[in-house]
Amino acid sequence: MSKENKKIKYEIRAKDALMLNLRALKLFRKLSPWHIELEVLDKIHQTLGYYIGIYVTARIVTELATLRRPKTLLFWVIIMLSQELFVRMIHYTIFHIQQVKGNFMNERRWNLIDKKLSQMDYVDAERQGVRDHYFKIRQDEEWTGLGFSAGYSFIYIFSDIANILGAIALSAGFVFLKVPETAPGAGILNSPLTILAIIAVIALISRGAVILGSKAWKLYKEMNDSATLSNRVFWHTVNIPKDESRALDMRIYDQRSLLIHMRRQSVDQGFGKKAAEYWAGKGGIMRAIQNMSTHITLGAIYFIVGLKAWAGAFGVGQVTQYIAAITALTSHITNLAYRWQDMRLNAVNLKYAFDFLDIKNNMYQGSLSTEKRSDRQYDIEFKDVSFKYPGTEKWALRHLNVKFKVGSRLAVVGENGSGKTTFIKLLCRLYDPQEGQIFLNGIDIKKYDYQDYVGVFSVVLQDYFLPAQPIGENVAGSKNYDRKKAEKCLIDAGFGERLKELPQGLDTYLYKEFETDGVQVSGGEAQKIAIARALYKNAPFIILDEPTAALDPIAEAEIYSQFDGIVGNKTAIYISHRLSSCRFCDEILVFEDGSIIQRGSHDSLVETDGRYKELWYAQAQYYKDEEKRRQMDKERAAAGI
Ligand code: ADP
Repeated sequence: MSKENKKIKYEIRAKDALMLNLRALKLFRKLSPWHIELEVLDKIHQTLGYYIGIYVTARIVTELATLRRPKTLLFWVIIMLSQELFVRMIHYTIFHIQQVKGNFMNERRWNLIDKKLSQMDYVDAERQGVRDHYFKIRQDEEWTGLGFSAGYSFIYIFSDIANILGAIALSAGFVFLKVPETAPGAGILNSPLTILAIIAVIALISRGAVILGSKAWKLYKEMNDSATLSNRVFWHTVNIPKDESRALDMRIYDQRSLLIHMRRQSVDQGFGKKAAEYWAGKGGIMRAIQNMSTHITLGAIYFIVGLKAWAGAFGVGQVTQYIAAITALTSHITNLAYRWQDMRLNAVNLKYAFDFLDIKNNMYQGSLSTEKRSDRQYDIEFKDVSFKYPGTEKWALRHLNVKFKVGSRLAVVGENGSGKTTFIKLLCRLYDPQEGQIFLNGIDIKKYDYQDYVGVFSVVLQDYFLPAQPIGENVAGSKNYDRKKAEKCLIDAGFGERLKELPQGLDTYLYKEFETDGVQVSGGEAQKIAIARALYKNAPFIILDEPTAALDPIAEAEIYSQFDGIVGNKTAIYISHRLSSCRFCDEILVFEDGSIIQRGSHDSLVETDGRYKELWYAQAQYYKDEEKRRQMDKERAAAGI
């Protein structure tokens, strides 16, 4: 094997690896001040305690083997116990602080990565490649302890250095104390060359252990990387059965067998299996050789220290001291070498994590503040806007021209795939148009600070998310909130009657995930809570993207007509394929294939031949039937049938 082949091949240059580790250190110090300093302090202080312990034990053994003076023995025992007590006290104090701080550090690292995902350009955030990147960083953190989670382990270099210094101080006597000239083999045992030979053997064995260790770690890392997809599939199969909303599909279509198949496959190609194969093969052999080398080193140390003691260089007390000190010296010199290699190998994972954090934000660069106008005079204009989704050729919106002013009611109708949702996505700047511009009060929306800009909108999407938290907190989006206002919003959104029935009112937990007496609301009720949340935000624009899809058409129309009053002076944009809900709007835009094919009030559109009129008459019959059915139900109920 050539010399080059024996070397560990690093993917990152030493200098870059160092810079990445330092960058990580800087980041963690910022995320959790004093965490790292305390950790180093704890390690150094424990090291000190360890060597005091070795020294004192040697003194006690010597005293027991020689003069056995009770006072001296008592003195050393008291020193031993008090140092132990002192070391433990400091350690547990630091440990206590560290536990709290440590949790913060982990939590903050996660927050950082999550924040990045939620604030990057939406176009990037929804890309599968970026999602894979995110998942891999998480996998490194949670499964293999690589990347950021190993990002500051190199600071234990300080602990190794402290250990090496302590061990040298306690083993110096072994080098300098000479065997009496009369003893057999004194010449060899006292020769500096013998000491040098011992050092050389220890260094060689350590070096071998480090090379093996690094190779093992590299293989382990490669295994981790190759198992990313199967890990993701595995977690998918674990999470789906827990998701109540999928329970029916799971049963009706026996999706369980599909999931079992996916899980089987992911396990077959997953990390666990690869790790098992690894330990049963190369990994196990490397670990065995490593352990053997440690034991050989230890044996050599025992042998040589024992030999010198037997020849009369020092007493039995020093034997314990020298063996402990030289063993520690060997292992910490090895550790020191490991640390550097770990740093270099982990640098690849650190780079991966930093590459994620460094994904450029090209979209949200604006800095203008949306004027907090007390008159809420905001207007929006789409000027010749065209848009196609990244990676597609088809225009999802084409030459859109719309202007809507404050207080107006705008309805966007059209069949599935006509571009209604895309229109809202552009309005909320999830994407920027390829052609044309969108203006808020005459200024291109790209120029506004993004957080400020989205603050102008309340949106109720079809696919909203309500966390399993108390209803009031859901509505307000916060722990501390105005209870009266939350209640009013729920009543306005049509949830008032149901709220009255709930024994804990606003404090009732949604769903039973975290509280057994949580409330399991229906799809329609959940939508009302989502609407209440939009009302609570009290933004000048309120957008409802088919939010009432879970309601029957009449109930939907009722909500919309009430909504008109609730919305008040806000600008409302309703998106619906049910035309009855849009009747009361000032202007209706009819979308088809990404373009507006008709616009006007309900009365004018219904009298004009065109798509709207066609759809209206097609749907009207259904509403009439529905109304008739309801009326009959009411009459039956009144008659007690
Ligand atoms: P609507 O809300 O009216 O049902 P959309 O705005 O969702 O319609 O869709 C408009 C067009 O854009 C459709 O042709 C749809 O297939 C396409 N589209 C929607 N979302 C995406 C996406 N994320 N990537 C690619 N094409 C999309």
